[in-house]
Amino acid sequence: MKSIVVFCGSSEGTDPQVLEHAHELGAALAGRSIDLVYGAAIIGVMGKVAQGALDNGGKVIGVIPDFLMLKEVYHPGLSQLIVTENMHERKLKMHELSDGIITLPGGYGTLEELFEMITWAQLGLHQKPIGILNTNGFYNELLAMLRKMVAQGFLKQENYEMLLVDETVTGLLEKMKEYKPLPLPKWIQKDQV
Ligand code: AMP
Repeated sequence: MKSIVVFCGSSEGTDPQVLEHAHELGAALAGRSIDLVYGAAIIGVMGKVAQGALDNGGKVIGVIPDFLMLKEVYHPGLSQLIVTENMHERKLKMHELSDGIITLPGGYGTLEELFEMITWAQLGLHQKPIGILNTNGFYNELLAMLRKMVAQGFLKQENYEMLLVDETVTGLLEKMKEYKPLPLPKWIQKDQV
C-alpha cells in the first residue's frame, strides 16, 4: 500500500484514546512511507491524524469540497490540498488516490464514507483492504448490527469478513497488509433468475 484514505470524525469525541490513536496512525503511516489521504480538516479526529503524519515527515493529501473550504477549517500545512466541487467528487477523488481504507471513530459522515467503500467492494468495484480501528470497542455495537444482518440473510458472511477490525494501530495495519481480496463476484444473469 502506497496510500491510505482515513475516514474519521470532524469532532474530537470524548475518549482521549481516540485522539491518541489518530495521531499514532498518522505517525505509523509516515513511518511506513504510506501517503495519507483524508478530508483536509484541521479540526476533530481528522486534524489529529494529519498532524501525526506531518509531525513525522509524512505526505498528507487533503481533499475538500469548496463549500467546506469556505469555513476555513482546512489544515494549512498539508503537502497537497485538492478542492472539489462537491461531496461526491471529493469521495471519488479520495477513492482514486488510495490503496486502502481506514475508519476511526466518527459520526454520520464517517459511516457514510465507510459504507460507500464497503458497498463498492461488495460489488467488486475495488479490492482494497478496509480497516476499522476499533478504539476501546467503539464500533462493537455496529459490528453486532452487521452480524445481525448476516444472521437474518441480508449480508453474506464473506462480505462481513471483508471488514478488518483491530483495537490497535499496528495490528490493523498488519491485517491490511496480509489481506487477500475475495474473488470478483459472479453476476447473476437475467436468464438465470
Ligand atoms: P462526521 O463523522 O459526521 O464528523 O463527519 C466526518 C465527515 O465530514 C468527513 O467527510 C469530513 O471530511 C466531513 N467534515 C465535516 N465537517 C468538516 C469540516 N469542517 N471540514 C472538513 N471536513 C468536514
